[in-house]
Amino acid sequence: MRQKLQLKGDTSLSQSVIQRRNSNQRQKSPVQGRRLFLSHVIQTPLSLQYGQTQQQQQQQPQQQQIIQGRSHSQSTVVFQKEIPQKWPIIQLPFLKNTEPTIFFQYPPVCEDKRPLVNARPMTVEEVKKYSLTCKVLGSAPYKCVLTSFDWAGFKRIDEDDEDEDEYEEWNVQWGIGNKITLRNMNRYQKINHFPGCWNMGRKDLLWINLSKFKRKYPKEYNFIPNTYLLQYDYDRFIMAQESAQKDTLWIKKPCADSRGRGITMISKKSKVKKDKNCLIMDYIYNPHLINGFKYDLRVYVLISCFDPLRVYMYKDGLVRFATQKYSTNSKDLTKRYIHLTNFAVNKLSPNFVKNKDSQKDDEGSKWSHLAYRKKLDDLGVDSRELFSRIKDVVLKTCIATEPFMLDSNAKSQEHRNGYFELYGFDVLIDENLKPWVLEVNVSPSLNSSSPLDKKIKTSLISDVLHLVGVPLWDKSNQKVASPPKYNQRNIKEIPNINTSNCLSKLSQNDFNMLIQTVEEVKRKGKNFSCIFPNPKTIHQYMDLFEFPRYNNKLIERFYQDRCNWLSRYN
Ligand code: ADP
Repeated sequence: MRQKLQLKGDTSLSQSVIQRRNSNQRQKSPVQGRRLFLSHVIQTPLSLQYGQTQQQQQQQPQQQQIIQGRSHSQSTVVFQKEIPQKWPIIQLPFLKNTEPTIFFQYPPVCEDKRPLVNARPMTVEEVKKYSLTCKVLGSAPYKCVLTSFDWAGFKRIDEDDEDEDEYEEWNVQWGIGNKITLRNMNRYQKINHFPGCWNMGRKDLLWINLSKFKRKYPKEYNFIPNTYLLQYDYDRFIMAQESAQKDTLWIKKPCADSRGRGITMISKKSKVKKDKNCLIMDYIYNPHLINGFKYDLRVYVLISCFDPLRVYMYKDGLVRFATQKYSTNSKDLTKRYIHLTNFAVNKLSPNFVKNKDSQKDDEGSKWSHLAYRKKLDDLGVDSRELFSRIKDVVLKTCIATEPFMLDSNAKSQEHRNGYFELYGFDVLIDENLKPWVLEVNVSPSLNSSSPLDKKIKTSLISDVLHLVGVPLWDKSNQKVASPPKYNQRNIKEIPNINTSNCLSKLSQNDFNMLIQTVEEVKRKGKNFSCIFPNPKTIHQYMDLFEFPRYNNKLIERFYQDRCNWLSRYN
């Protein structure tokens, strides 16, 4: 049995409230077979327990209406008083006609506080009504995931739980959903993987998807090293090897493995077998070095939706260093501590230096991106320019996999907001400061081997969950609102839409989609930057999409028309 998360409220809150929540007091009525709440609900509004002023309390009924989606407030609510740790908080929407979501407080390890803007703690009744639960799969779940849920007031439910209904009633599932889960999920539930996520996450599929775009747009898609899938391209590789110059290098990798397992260097003299589970990639022989060491960047990228495409890049991440000085000398070719930058490989090196203090993020064999950028600036390298190039290759990778993702996800319209994915891009920078995408990890390691790791990864997960927006689901009400129906839409009409005619031209679904896009950007906080759809750059990328999509085009038009449509709608 896995350890469950407990809602540990501050002692200033009524202990009985906390105990009741912990004991998950919903019961089934033997007569109706329906769940009932125990009746001894504490009636004291939470605001009184926090000693709020009369004026603050008067705001409460107005905010309650927002929960029911009937009204809205543009006011900013900033709570001066401390909210008890791990007490659920509601993030109110910034626009009218949309739903509130759950606010994710940063756990203490993040050494940061998320600003309580337009947010308020749940009342005791709401805590019961919305009873927040997460299903975290796997026998050794990541601590940063558990802690992030815990600090937002979620209780972890377990596969072994006796109450099967409860097992179905999770708000967020962390772990790949099976067919039954995907079929049964409703519009209030979120899963952290898209069906078909391997289109980006397997090295061979990534190459298949990107090479198609590389043929079409050779200039734009020249950021993935040329690759040979041995199953199909063996003969082509042998020919390339024979005709290559004598010091040419390649790297051979299993198509679906990670952590540097099974990787070998290949030279002109190497004998290569037709191993259909492996691929061979051109070796980037001239990496940018810091203090003589090769490194790569782990870049965290969040995709919150594929239709419309919404992509965010995290401002921080990890820089992973090799632990022996770089050399392409033929006698060093077998030395993994020179050529591979994986943490899993280098932590075994006698030269590996562990980070011991989250404040010292430029020490040891793993740095933060922030420390790395500072180092680049010290070296006279424009780190801003480099990171905007990284954003460009990340987004192009997402655009290239978008058709395959939407194919794999037939329910994407219905559950447009039901999935999200945190990808770990491995990016190598060469000596010309050109970023190369080496691979994309579907489940990037969230293990924390140092205080720096812990801080970055916990902030990351808390930010991801806050951004994607976990909606409130009244679990005491058996009826789950059905997903919206999608009408025929005419993409050719979009250029004619403007502020004066948008009310008649757009459907409610169109407005919902635009509102969600805007709300999400408001929730992204200071750590994520929105790389698509970004009003400043959206036009540059629209032509790269294999198929023009109605939602992407509508957002482009919305930005072009200076976003006044929503004020008409509201
Ligand atoms: P894994 O999934 O096993 O981590 P990667 O593709 O990330 O496999 O490769 C592991 C490491 O090998 C990378 O972190 C990088 O240091 C090195 N590497 C991989 N591909 C290349 C390449 N084409 N050129 C140079 N170095 C590479």
